[in-house]
Formats: sequence, C-alpha cells, structure tokens
Amino acid sequence: MTYDFSSLSRSGLDVREGVTLAPLTTMKVGGPADYFVTVTDEEQLTIAVRWCHGARLPYFVLGGGSNILISDRGVRGLVIYNRSRRVAIEVQDATRALLTAASGAAMAGVARTSIRHSLTGLEWAVSVPGTVGGAVVGNAGAHGGEIKDNLRRAAVLDEKSETIVMMSADFAYAYRDSSLKRKRPLQAGFKPVVLWAEFALASGDEEEARARAGTYLAHRRRTQPVEPSLGSTFVNPPGDFAGRLIEAAGLKGERAGGVEVSSVHANFIINPGGAGSAAAADVLKLVRRIQEQVARQSGILLETEIQLAGDWD
Ligand SMILES: Cc1cc2nc3c(=O)[nH]c(=O)nc-3n(C[C@H](O)[C@H](O)[C@H](O)COP(=O)(O)OP(=O)(O)OC[C@H]3O[C@@H](n4cnc5c(N)ncnc54)[C@H](O)[C@@H]3O)c2cc1C
Repeated sequence: MTYDFSSLSRSGLDVREGVTLAPLTTMKVGGPADYFVTVTDEEQLTIAVRWCHGARLPYFVLGGGSNILISDRGVRGLVIYNRSRRVAIEVQDATRALLTAASGAAMAGVARTSIRHSLTGLEWAVSVPGTVGGAVVGNAGAHGGEIKDNLRRAAVLDEKSETIVMMSADFAYAYRDSSLKRKRPLQAGFKPVVLWAEFALASGDEEEARARAGTYLAHRRRTQPVEPSLGSTFVNPPGDFAGRLIEAAGLKGERAGGVEVSSVHANFIINPGGAGSAAAADVLKLVRRIQEQVARQSGILLETEIQLAGDWD
C-alpha cells in the first residue's frame, strides 16, 4: 500500500520512512517506524491525526518515549513525534492561576515554568521524564503528587478525530491509569490524542517551591540509576514494593543480552551500553524472568508499568 503524503508536505509536515525509534526512547531500544513525522504545534498534531483517519493509516503518538518498550520490529503505520511545546499562564487572582501546556511540552519543564511563576502544585513533576500528553494519559506521579491533583481539563482528539474538552473527572483517574490509557492499544491505531492540558495551580512562594523541587531531584539522584531505562518496570503491588520483591528474589544485577536489573534500584531495568547495544527482546525476556522468579519466591505476580508498543507477537 502506498500513501500520498503531499497534503501533509503542504502543511509543512515532512513524512519520512523507516526512521529508527530507539534514540527517541529513554531505554534506547526499538526498531523503525514505517512512517514518521515530527509535529511542533497542536495544529500540526491535529492535521497529522486527521490525515491518518482519512487515509486509514494507523498512527502512534510518541512523546518522550519514557514509558514504552518499542518492539525491535518497530511500529507499523505513522509515528507522530509530538514536539508541540506551547506553555501559557493565565493569572486568575492573587491566589490562583491556570497553566496551559501543549501535549508535547516536557512535563518537567512545565513544572519548572510553574515554579518560576511562583505557582505551586506541580513540583513533584520536576523529576519525571516525558511529555504532558504521556503524563495526562498515564496519570504520572511522584513524591505524593500526581496529574489528577491539578489537571482541570484537557483538549483531546477523540476516536473520530473531533476535538473535545475532557474535564479531569472524565479521565476516571486511578494509580498510573486513566480512561484514555484503558482505551489505548499498544499498536498504532485510531485512539484519542491529547492536544493540550490545563492545570489549576495555587500562588505560592517561589523559593519554597524551588526547595521542594530540589529535594525531589536530590532524592532521585540518590535512589535511581542514571543509565538508560524506562523508570519503574513494575507497579507496586498493594502493600509492598516491586523493587523490594525483586531484590528479595536475588535478581539485582540479573542480565539478559545487553540489559540488566539495576543494582541501585531493583525495579529499574537498565541498558548500560545505550543505543545499539541491547534489544527490546532482551528487556522483555528479563521482565518475564523477573515475573516468574518473584512469583515463585513470593506468590505475587508483578504487573508491568512499562507498556509494550509496536509490532510484538
Ligand atoms: C528515569 C525514569 C523515571 C521515571 N519516573 C516516573 C515517575 O516518578 N512517575 C511516573 O509516573 N512515571 C515515571 N516514569 C515513566 C514516564 O516518565 C511516564 O510514564 C511519562 O508520563 C511518559 O510520558 P512520555 O511522553 O514519555 O510517554 P511515551 O512513553 O512517549 O508514551 C506512553 C504512552 O502514552 C501515549 N501518549 C503519549 N503522548 C500522548 C498524547 N499526546 N495523546 C495520547 N497519547 C499519548 C503513547 O502513545 C504511549 O501509549 C519514569 C521514566 C523514566 C525513564
């Protein structure tokens, strides 16, 4: 099947074929996109998604690639690399402001911007990789905060590529989960896309907010590995910690191909050699081995927090 991308070119969108996705993920593994386009604002994102609907070509929105394990076989369809980064602040009164961020803005950058404007509520996010879109879909959180605490509403292209505005309650947020994530296939498809998100923030003291953010960053540096990874591999089971269970099963340092269980934090699988030195299949092999051995040792089946994306069996 061949596709006519000329209308996208006329909108300034340069579609390329066979682009390797590994460098665009934090794990530095994964194969090529059949087709690949970078969008730099919400209008381009909308155009690309609507074009896919018209052409019946499945799409996959790639944010920071910090929560997905992309198959070595890559992603079929069009990968839309979201670099729409607009951030705007609207002060409401002396105590409140609304911060709107395009879905491709870095969540940590948005948090830093909020602090610079003496706004409080997003400090937890200074240490979380990835984009606003990925965070809104996955209800990202850290240090006792999460997206659902401050999200007021978000604009979404729905399954028919119509723009709708969803209020926070519409996302039915749960731990690292949302109605949108539940709808999301792990392969390219025609699922909803977040365009922008609006956060309700309180005015606060800039120095205090900065100090809180600094504490969170320092905690990360002390407790998490610096090598390429996808962050926490598994969600914590009720009343316990995935890292503790993995360590108790004697799996720190366990290897598969080029990847290994971090000796700093056992819930992290790291790729010490970076791009080109490991395969996504290595990561999945280690994930399965950890699940089996932890289940054998403790009777608990760990559920993955990372998501498989692209062309897996
Ligand atoms: C070192 C490290 C530490 C981490 N620490 C934390 C942490 O403390 N807390 C936490 O919650 N997470 C953490 N993570 C995981 C990750 O940062 C979050 O899940 C993040 O929100 C993913 O965003 P992303 O843009 O990278 O999404 P991606 O990995 O690019 O995509 C994830 C999914 O979201 C979809 N998606 C992305 N953008 C959109 C959009 N605009 N519209 C619709 N769907 C979209 C993708 O299609 C995909 O299905 C960590 C990861 C790393 C590598």
